[in-house]
Amino acid sequence: MSRDYDVVIIGAGMVGASLACALAPSGLRIAIIEAVTLKNDYQPSYDDRGLTLSPSSRRILEHIGVWQNVLPAVNSIKKIHVSEQGRFGFTHLDASQTHNNELGYVVVARSLGLALHKQMSSFENITLICPAELKSFKQSEAGMSVEISYSDRSELISTGLLVGADGSQSMVRRLAAINIKEHDFKQTAIVANVTTQKPNQATAYERFTHHGPVALLPIEKNRSVLVFTVATENADRYMSMTDAQFIGAVETEFGRRLGKIAQVGQRRSYPIKFIEAVEQYQQQLILLGNAAHSIHPNSAQGFNLGLRDVAGLAECVFAAIDKGLDVDDISILESYLSLRLPDQQRVMRFTNRLANSFYNKNSLLIPARNLAMLMIDTIPIVKEAFIQQAMGIVGLQPRVVRGPHT
Ligand SMILES: Cc1cc2nc3c(=O)[nH]c(=O)nc-3n(C[C@H](O)[C@H](O)[C@H](O)COP(=O)(O)OP(=O)(O)OC[C@H]3O[C@@H](n4cnc5c(N)ncnc54)[C@H](O)[C@@H]3O)c2cc1C
Repeated sequence: MSRDYDVVIIGAGMVGASLACALAPSGLRIAIIEAVTLKNDYQPSYDDRGLTLSPSSRRILEHIGVWQNVLPAVNSIKKIHVSEQGRFGFTHLDASQTHNNELGYVVVARSLGLALHKQMSSFENITLICPAELKSFKQSEAGMSVEISYSDRSELISTGLLVGADGSQSMVRRLAAINIKEHDFKQTAIVANVTTQKPNQATAYERFTHHGPVALLPIEKNRSVLVFTVATENADRYMSMTDAQFIGAVETEFGRRLGKIAQVGQRRSYPIKFIEAVEQYQQQLILLGNAAHSIHPNSAQGFNLGLRDVAGLAECVFAAIDKGLDVDDISILESYLSLRLPDQQRVMRFTNRLANSFYNKNSLLIPARNLAMLMIDTIPIVKEAFIQQAMGIVGLQPRVVRGPHT
């Protein structure tokens, strides 16, 4: 059957753009539809947020030709320091305890966006349609027909596979009538760049406070990205503070490990909700990234997980093409889900438990949490397991994550 595109991806955010780059070498004709231009300051995927990338994400980004473009903007994490305010338990992870030189990387989302879009534009078989929005789609025996709206008109395009990479409020998910499990953490992450008196020495700090986690991620010698989580009911108050008041509030929670905070940049706020789609695929349709699962940013795993899903889907599509199957073959989506579900479930459980355990005021849990942190810090096998989780290399992973000799 003749169709306009083999794959139509809704959303050129980090996950949709990564998928386009991952699939392009197959020669499939790919259209990627994005509502907001990259230049727009309100592009939701590519703002000034510092993103922590795991070594598994590095492998995937190398494989899809994006890492080279983003490398000048990447900062390595050599150490991770995790602590809880007012408690003795803490853990300290060091790259020298692993086979890698780094535990992870920090990159500003905007730089990653530029690198992804540069790589997309190098493929003739990727068509970026932007600004344009998905309006509706219709599945029939003849195939999938997708209605796209521009500012002045709309257009119908046909495809073999429709990918919903359109974020946590996914229109694809809504139009497909896919239900979600949802939990409002009633927390808001306030993100800003900070300059500290002392150099960060490539250390990422995560401190669990009674407000929620406070993270400082290294981006330059004396600059870090602050992720300061507060109860949503207090978020407006923190957002409207003067810089001096806000710095005071952060130092009260975080302490002065990096000396005084000399400067704080523009603050942005992100309400935190857990969303899980109860179905991830239907005939000729699949959800990826935040559209499939939006998780708490407490352990910086959302995009890392979405990127492993991208690698998993690309692996299944390439395997199907090798067998002579078409992209609309449902077996691709079935094998994708059996490859990816265990990792998705593990990460969702981990981030939800972390979120719930640290805000649980139950005094019986506190000694257990301290003990857990001490175990991580002092028992090598527990520490190794914790590091592997942070690095995104637990369980069966897509081939590109496992490496060439597996
Ligand atoms: C404060 C914070 C810190 C985080 N830190 C980390 C971290 O350190 N490491 C990490 O791995 N993850 C982190 N995450 C998670 C990460 O940001 C998300 O996992 C990631 O952005 C999901 O990307 P996505 O492409 O699925 O969705 P989105 O980024 O939401 O992109 C969706 C895209 O779809 C477009 N779109 C939506 N609807 C339509 C439509 N109808 N038609 C056309 N286009 C449409 C949107 O404009 C957007 O560009 C963090 C999240 C937060 C909130």
